[in-house]
Amino acid sequence: EATGPTIVAGEILVEIMAIERGLGFLEPLELTGPYPSGAPAIFIDQVARLGGGAGIIACVGRDDFGTINLERLRHDGVDVSAVSVSDRYPTGSAFVRYRPDGGRDFVYNIAESAAGRISLTAEARRLADAAGHLHVMGSALSIAGLKGIVAYAVKAARARGGSTSFDPNVRKELIDGADGAHFAALVDDADLLLPSGDELLAAAGVDDERQAVAALIARGVGEIVLKRGAAGSTRFGADGSRTDCPGFLVEEVDPTGAGDCFGATYLTCRRKGIEPGKALLYANAAGALNVTRRGPMEGLAGFDALDRFIFGTDRAATDRAK
Ligand code: ATP
Ligand code: MG
Repeated sequence: EATGPTIVAGEILVEIMAIERGLGFLEPLELTGPYPSGAPAIFIDQVARLGGGAGIIACVGRDDFGTINLERLRHDGVDVSAVSVSDRYPTGSAFVRYRPDGGRDFVYNIAESAAGRISLTAEARRLADAAGHLHVMGSALSIAGLKGIVAYAVKAARARGGSTSFDPNVRKELIDGADGAHFAALVDDADLLLPSGDELLAAAGVDDERQAVAALIARGVGEIVLKRGAAGSTRFGADGSRTDCPGFLVEEVDPTGAGDCFGATYLTCRRKGIEPGKALLYANAAGALNVTRRGPMEGLAGFDALDRFIFGTDRAATDRAK
């Protein structure tokens, strides 16, 4: 395994959420925020919180929304030298309102914001050239400049003996034609695949979990860690092994960001040489702890806090599931 930081590329956003549950934004609402957000940003901040080397290629506007993100990332130890600041476009944003059934309605401003302006700058090249691991977020694939950055960064990481991971958090409906080929290549190339729910089936193009795992491993995926929300997660190894980790029992206040926080924790544990079962436990703890706080990055935690959480929190769901 190569040394060098874990890096990501993609959207930095602020998140602004409705306080009350309901359907969409068709009336004046009480909102809270801005909170630092964006799947790649959440992920990389958690890598840094765990003491892993971390860097991000992104773009924010020259505004307060950009500043709160940069300050948070910097404070937590993320290398932000490859985050460019646009004078012309505002920082990206996501408005979210939770539905009574737990679903979510979003209003995004990404493609036409600073987040959509990322490009392979000299600073981005410098960060990629030093990277030991590249994590790719499916959510970022809709950004025009991302493909080129990912292509460059995959090559750079591989040249140094580095590894890659892929979170296919993109709607199946949005994958078609040329994008489908790019998506498939990212899946095939991944040393670690981090799907949640049906994304596993979508990535494999079959509708059975076991078949999907077998197909993906046959395509060259190194290991698969499947996120199951409150039910926990499962790791599938290339050797055919399977490890289940039940979810911790917590009160879910805000589910956004759990998957990113989970993935960052699993990956960082593995890069630190922690064995898969223990890495999975830490990742479950990180995801569960994250949902207990409002704001996608407010529940991120280092190893000390995770150890305390694991020690003090029930997994009664465990016993019931088994
Ligand atoms: P998102 O895309 O919204 O960030 P995701 O769909 O990628 O999330 P989830 O499965 O929702 O990922 O959450 C990731 C992990 O966090 C789960 O596998 C689980 O370990 C933990 N987790 C999430 N929600 C809960 C919950 N309500 N209770 C306990 N643990 C949870
Ligand atoms: Mg996800």
